[in-house]
Amino acid sequence: MFDYTAPNNLLAKRVILITGAGDGIGRVAAIECARLGATVVLLGRTLAKLEAVYDAIEAAGHGQPAIFPMDLRTSEDEDYLKLAQGIESEFGRLDGLLHNASLLGQRTPISNYESSTWRLVMQVNVTAAFMMTQALLPLLEASADASVIFTSSGVGTKGKAYWGAYSVSKFATEGMAQILAEETENTSNIRVNIINPGATRTSMRAQAYPGEDPSSNPTPKDIMPVYQFLLGPDSKGTTGQRFNAQQTR
Ligand code: NDP
Repeated sequence: MFDYTAPNNLLAKRVILITGAGDGIGRVAAIECARLGATVVLLGRTLAKLEAVYDAIEAAGHGQPAIFPMDLRTSEDEDYLKLAQGIESEFGRLDGLLHNASLLGQRTPISNYESSTWRLVMQVNVTAAFMMTQALLPLLEASADASVIFTSSGVGTKGKAYWGAYSVSKFATEGMAQILAEETENTSNIRVNIINPGATRTSMRAQAYPGEDPSSNPTPKDIMPVYQFLLGPDSKGTTGQRFNAQQTR
């Protein structure tokens, strides 16, 4: 694992938005950020799941989070504007943005891939992240120490048979992160980095590898150190980098 031990107050006074916060890695990242002192904005498409994460954070005695339900398949520019306005009026700041939500889509050869699924995967994994980033940039620019994280995958740098739109969307994600990192490097306090979580015990992993024993993979909690490092002040000055959550530095 990436080797980093977060102090308990690492994210105090920070407001951090996490997409796909209702399940899997995003859910655990949200609870962990709250544990480390952040005010967390939980964004996802299934309200009941977001509410369960909200309740878990409150029950643990961490700072009160906020819920922002949004379906990234259908969201438009005005929804992202509303999101930015909501965060501005509620908290007056944004210090972290974790692009985590993704759709797996089909695992099938290009020859069989349905174009409707292809479009949805690209919409959720790439276009929505672009629109959200653009809308939130003014808030991030106003932060003294802002961190944007994009989530990639092993198939985001090496294409593999049957991974279709998911793999293509992760290549695009890597490109978007590199572009944004260069554009913000000398003009702002925003750092932009990429995490490849590696095989992690979630429902997406089970969907991609139905025959695999889930217990053979690390849990989302196990891979948190790199997320903590990148969202907190210890990564100030680190930008345009790609991190494997399960590899040592
Ligand atoms: P999960 O499928 O467990 O969770 C994904 C989250 O994204 C869910 O909360 C889901 O909401 C949300 N989401 C999906 N579609 C939308 C949408 N249209 N609008 C809003 N939210 C949406 O995935 P993981 O936790 O496994 O994956 C997290 C990230 O890590 C992804 O970017 C994935 O590509 C990446 N990754 C994961 C690996 C693994 O082994 N798990 C390996 C490599 C990369 P809901 O639950 O309501 O559907």
